[in-house]
Amino acid sequence: MLKKTGIPEEEELKLVLPDDARRKRGPFAVFECFERIPCNPCYDACPMHAVMPFEDINDLPRLDLDRCNGCGNCVAQCPGLAVFVVDETYSEDEALLKLPYEFVPLPLAGSEVDLLDREGKKVGRGKVVRVQKARHRTATPVVWVTVPKHLSMVVRNIGGI
Ligand code: SF4
Ligand code: SF4
Repeated sequence: MLKKTGIPEEEELKLVLPDDARRKRGPFAVFECFERIPCNPCYDACPMHAVMPFEDINDLPRLDLDRCNGCGNCVAQCPGLAVFVVDETYSEDEALLKLPYEFVPLPLAGSEVDLLDREGKKVGRGKVVRVQKARHRTATPVVWVTVPKHLSMVVRNIGGI
């Protein structure tokens, strides 16, 4: 489980994965934030008010998926690197993943990279579509990368840059 390994279990991930109908409607944020800690930058980051107000700063974030448009602001602002955006409508075979990337050098748009799962294991290759540099000191760059559609909830990092 998360507390022992730092990696969320399938049961935990099921709680934050939208239903099939929502997945087919367009991009959505996935909040892999399962520990009660005093933190809420995702709330302030969301221009769509899709992150519901926190009653207690230690609460886990709750997302209104009808409001989320997949902009990715929360990905850049989450200090825990716990938020991703998944767009399974990107193409017939590929999904687009927006992930936080805090290493240097940043990948270049157009380059091919290794796709890594939550444990850092290589599971395929993808193409970097865009790199959003951090706009200020507390933000994290966000990399947009294509992934085979069936790996949209498996890939959570990139390597081989
Ligand atoms: S992806 Fe954009 S709209 Fe969706 S929760 Fe994050 S900040 Fe809000
Ligand atoms: S900013 Fe990230 S770590 Fe903090 S509550 Fe939101 S999702 Fe969790």
